[in-house]
Amino acid sequence: METEQKLDALQSRFPEVGKDVLLELLITFGGSVEQTKLMLEEQFGPRDIKTAVKREIKGKFPATKRKANVETAASESCVVAKKRAFPQKQTSFKVSKASANISTTLYNKEQIESTVPYLRFYPSFLPDSLADSLLDELLSKRAQFKDKMFHIAGNECHSNHQSAVFYDGDIPEQKYDNGFYKNSKSMAQSFTGNIRTAKFLIEDQANEVLATTKKHPLQVQSEWRASLCVGNYFHTNKNNLDWHSDRLTTIGPLPLICSLTLGATRIFRIRKQYGESPIYNIPLPHNSLLLMLPGTQEEFKHCVPSLGNSLVARHPRANETRINLTLRMSRAHLQNNTPSCPICKSAMTLRRMYKKPASRGYYFWLCNGGYRSGKECPGFYFANLSDMEKPRAKLYTRDVKQATRWLAEDDHEARTATEFHMEDVKD
Ligand SMILES: [Zn+2]
Repeated sequence: METEQKLDALQSRFPEVGKDVLLELLITFGGSVEQTKLMLEEQFGPRDIKTAVKREIKGKFPATKRKANVETAASESCVVAKKRAFPQKQTSFKVSKASANISTTLYNKEQIESTVPYLRFYPSFLPDSLADSLLDELLSKRAQFKDKMFHIAGNECHSNHQSAVFYDGDIPEQKYDNGFYKNSKSMAQSFTGNIRTAKFLIEDQANEVLATTKKHPLQVQSEWRASLCVGNYFHTNKNNLDWHSDRLTTIGPLPLICSLTLGATRIFRIRKQYGESPIYNIPLPHNSLLLMLPGTQEEFKHCVPSLGNSLVARHPRANETRINLTLRMSRAHLQNNTPSCPICKSAMTLRRMYKKPASRGYYFWLCNGGYRSGKECPGFYFANLSDMEKPRAKLYTRDVKQATRWLAEDDHEARTATEFHMEDVKD
């Protein structure tokens, strides 16, 4: 097939992507339409015949599909601020599809850890007095938790819960996830004394667990230290957090994330990123600590639904309010070496492919310019994280053979899938 024909074929499937960008990607993938399509589907969603037919039927709303997919990628629930909201149906479709899966509730440490070995659960983790005063302090700081603001397909969106990012020490110049959100700056706070005390206890627990597990070279090799804490404020049972996995830009591949719940007991849901996965409901009570071990963000997604039954128990003082603190360790040099988008020069976000077995596990950089400014951009690089610990390093590549990949040990489907080498594919 001639290049021009290849471009036409790609353009008909991905009309939202410019021809110059398609050409660039086609070159990256050694002229393989199949591989370029795989990568684009990873970003923009599958383009099989059924999807094409659906697009035809939807007719005049070609952007809707894109919005829904970007929403999945942005991994946030979105309340569209502008008047032209996209149809609510898109969001509810996703929810009903998810709840069609078998869902199981895991009630205690034994059930949780034996069913999802990536998790560790500690009820009543902090001394009661510390948990209570931390809760009171955070309740009094409600005004400092902000809606996360971002753009989807040109619409300004607000998250349906509020967030703050606490830093151990001074607030750094460079914001969490390269300021993924429009208002990242207004969310930045410093650790308080109570957060710091909790952090020491959580770190000890985390390091004790990590000492019993095998360390992957991509993981933090030193002691685990929480350098930042993303706090989420769910004022009422209506506030939710949509299905997502946590972005890796600041914390790197295979991160450990420690989540402390304060206040009301809400349901935390978790399921595999791919395949027919059951959904697990985990009620998280006041002062419970959930460790998401390395690999959890890669293999699973999680959410806090706003369904009526998501509130399991009110808290005597916080009532329906649940605040959770997620402690994370930033990777010192990762943010400094985040590549700029080859198309629009915006900062990029680090993600991992998971949809197709043959490409699953590759880390990649995706332009985040669109989320901040509303101007969409499909800028893409593969990630080469081998020099991640160096102060100055090139962490991107256009060559899939140089790309960093991680697969779960039990992911036999991807391990036995045809290797994702461009020369294997003949168009
Ligand atoms: Zn860009």
